[in-house]
Amino acid sequence: MYNEHLQVWDECLVIIKKMVRESAYKTWFEKITPKSLDGSTLVLQVPSKEHAMYIDEHFIDALQVSLHTTLGPRAELEYFIVNPRKLHKPLPYEVKPTRKDIRTNSVNPFAIPGIKKQSIDSQLNESYRFDNFIEGDCNRLARSAGIAVAKKPGKTSFNPLFIFGDVGLGKTHLAQAIGNQVAEHSEDKTVLYVSSEKFTNQFIESLQNNAVSDFVNFYQMIDTLIIDDIQFLENKEKTQDIFFTIFNHLHQSGKQLILTSDRPPRDLKGIEERLISRFKWGLSADLQLPSLETRMAIIQSKLSSEEVELPPSVIEFISHNVRTNVREIEGVLISIVAEAALNNRDINLDLAKEVIGKFIDNISNELTVEYIQRTVADYFGIEPSKLKEKTRKRLIVRARQLSMYLAKQLSNKSLKHIGNAFGGRDHSTVVHACKTIEDLLEKDNTFKSEFSTIQKQLKSTTVD
Ligand code: ADP
Ligand code: MG
Repeated sequence: MYNEHLQVWDECLVIIKKMVRESAYKTWFEKITPKSLDGSTLVLQVPSKEHAMYIDEHFIDALQVSLHTTLGPRAELEYFIVNPRKLHKPLPYEVKPTRKDIRTNSVNPFAIPGIKKQSIDSQLNESYRFDNFIEGDCNRLARSAGIAVAKKPGKTSFNPLFIFGDVGLGKTHLAQAIGNQVAEHSEDKTVLYVSSEKFTNQFIESLQNNAVSDFVNFYQMIDTLIIDDIQFLENKEKTQDIFFTIFNHLHQSGKQLILTSDRPPRDLKGIEERLISRFKWGLSADLQLPSLETRMAIIQSKLSSEEVELPPSVIEFISHNVRTNVREIEGVLISIVAEAALNNRDINLDLAKEVIGKFIDNISNELTVEYIQRTVADYFGIEPSKLKEKTRKRLIVRARQLSMYLAKQLSNKSLKHIGNAFGGRDHSTVVHACKTIEDLLEKDNTFKSEFSTIQKQLKSTTVD
């Protein structure tokens, strides 16, 4: 269709409008015009590169949800910049407006010679805090090292603090939480958050404008420097050199460095050895995928901060099925809420299945032993950990045998694995449990109906 791009963008806007604040919508979305639709790639014409970067950073969820909804899971977005900004005057450190001052025209605080430290905007997003960074086994070391650093920046042995982990696991959140806490507690200290891409671009601009020493001076004034996604410095030798200088200066002056990366220092192939060895001076701490419990706690926390409620079954369903990363969990939550609001639907398992189906290509039909244990334990009103204990109480023995049986049926795990998951029992115990349950199912009708209730509940959480 000739005008398809216009129609697609109109539909996106309806969704975006519900998801972003009115003032933000006016500032950032009304100035965009759709340019073309190329397969499932929508090209948007935006007034400037900064505009594109800003919406990409702050409204990615809304954009993603609206595009998924209108164009399906393969949808992509490209920006077309109307007037690539001419280099009118040297602005090597120009910054984007932060959330707080979307409407004020951002005056460049760094271009003025003799800048005051106080005028440096930290570029932090205040919503990333420790209290909304849920703790779990997946992040315990990194989180507590972060808290220690935030209390005494530059004064612990965690310098640099090197946080690494896959995409969407909370590196940016944690690094910014440290920055926010430092900024709050020591107002005389300058904190700066910068992505390594932006750092690189600023450096290149300063080269073009003959202002490299301004650039270096500026960075050497910072007390707590956070550089996000340091892996993007790979193979950028000149930028690495300048960063090496800045790093040494800050480290020697007892200033704090916080770096994040999608991989541990040793795997940063295109980065000079002398930098890698410095990255290892402090502490490297990784972030891993949160466990099922932690995923549930994260969802609860996101919901309570948005004042939204979801039925427990839906929360469990999302936690169980979205195992890629936390960002994806958030995307799913937003989509569910948006879909319910837009089409006046109830938030229930059907809706959750539909939305998750759009997000994730292959939702597994296999249940984890952990999940089966929890479901059965819930049904019997006992703690899941009881299933792993040695107790011979009738109720618990029954629940344990039943969980073993269901695990054998629904989890594709070996008998050995299942036995292990129940406090290190051996496979013959599992065989025995299965036999007992089979007998009971034949003889005991009350048990049989209980069984089918649990089974139904478990099956309702797999997507067909
Ligand atoms: P990364 O930088 O590793 O790609 P982000 O820090 O951007 O990941 O995290 C992605 C999203 O997940 C963010 O919205 C963040 O708030 C959220 N998130 C990640 N880990 C947690 C956690 N432990 N508790 C609460 N939210 C989290
Ligand atoms: Mg990040």
